[in-house]
Amino acid sequence: MADQIVTDVLIAGGGPVGAMLALGLRGCGASVLHVRSDAGAGERPIALSYGSRLLLEREGAWPAASPTPISEIHVSQQGGFGRTLIRATDYDLPALGYVAAYSGILGWLSAANTGHSGVDGRVIDYKTGADHVEIRVARTAGGETLERARLLVLADGGHAGLAENGHDYRQHAVVAEVQTEQPHRNIAWERFTRGGPIALLPYQNRYALIWSIEADAAQSLLAAPEAEFLLRLGAAFGSRLGTFVGASPRASFPLSLRRRRVVPAPRTVLVGNAAQTLHPVAGQGLNLGLRDAVELAELIASTHPPELGSDAFLKRYCARRRLDRNAGIRFTDALVRLFSNSSATLGMVRGAGLALLDIVPPARGFLARRMIYGARALP
Ligand SMILES: Cc1cc2nc3c(=O)[nH]c(=O)nc-3n(C[C@H](O)[C@H](O)[C@H](O)COP(=O)(O)OP(=O)(O)OC[C@H]3O[C@@H](n4cnc5c(N)ncnc54)[C@H](O)[C@@H]3O)c2cc1C
Repeated sequence: MADQIVTDVLIAGGGPVGAMLALGLRGCGASVLHVRSDAGAGERPIALSYGSRLLLEREGAWPAASPTPISEIHVSQQGGFGRTLIRATDYDLPALGYVAAYSGILGWLSAANTGHSGVDGRVIDYKTGADHVEIRVARTAGGETLERARLLVLADGGHAGLAENGHDYRQHAVVAEVQTEQPHRNIAWERFTRGGPIALLPYQNRYALIWSIEADAAQSLLAAPEAEFLLRLGAAFGSRLGTFVGASPRASFPLSLRRRRVVPAPRTVLVGNAAQTLHPVAGQGLNLGLRDAVELAELIASTHPPELGSDAFLKRYCARRRLDRNAGIRFTDALVRLFSNSSATLGMVRGAGLALLDIVPPARGFLARRMIYGARALP
């Protein structure tokens, strides 16, 4: 059977994580087939950490015209004392992160990967064997093909229906772009309210809003006329930016933590949202996924092709990602649980924590580094 293997690595998924992996594998010596289907996530703004910028830059996928920088993050809680301010200048960085459209990030990755076009289609089934995986691909142009690969990488955002654990946060994220009376001055806001966290990310000349709130309340926010929506947002966020004066059409997403086995079957590995789907509260999902892709690309490039997909290879990958992945999942989950609890005692603890972070620079620096580079302090 070995002589029928035509591909060393098959990547399923045309989101930013699959695209980053395909880019990272250019010229690595292994043969690669990238099966992509349209993400349909369009213009959704996403916060990329400064660490992700460095990774994209290294691959030639950072644009000449930089996206909107975040120079400060202001963290506070509604109706409680304590706040903390994280500034890029405290760490001698040009920015803590940047806000760009999902489609824009995909565009940078595909522009950097010229000459390495993949296949438009979807993986519809796969069967793992001792030497290779057999993968059925439905091509967008029509027809099905059967591919064989030593290693199958699922970067499909978690759509394969694999076993998972985690929990439902019983919250939805209401997303929109909003205009405020005052300009954003490149400051991002994370405000923990009784209903759930509100994140405002500076994006072009407006803010990208991610308002995590209980499902029924989310439906009522979606249904409200714009003027009422803006008033409710102002009441929850406060008046630091003046009044909210305009909003784009709104959308919502259910929020949950989903984690899956990184190696769900022989010769198969999960990266990005396929491996872990996080609450967007700390803007960690894509940043963690890009680090998955970079570390997997490095491991593939340093592995003799016949070894790709072997148990030893898969174990090495899991070991390399364990710390960063677990830290990203735990950090995000702890933040949601700590700040979505209305207990007065916890409110005091939160306030004390925020105040302490503000006056203890090393603690703030630790938090900032984790958010910027991940637990392994990449790159
Ligand atoms: C409201 C919201 C706000 C967010 N904000 C941030 C943020 O500020 N910062 C951040 O870092 N993260 C953020 N995230 C998370 C971020 O969007 C994800 O972590 C990121 O999109 C994951 O990328 P991915 O490539 O792994 O998966 P996806 O983006 O889900 O892409 C998966 C791709 O695989 C394709 N696919 C599916 N099935 C198949 C198949 N069978 N065969 C082939 N292809 C397939 C899909 O069509 C899609 O193109 C946010 C998420 C939400 C919901």
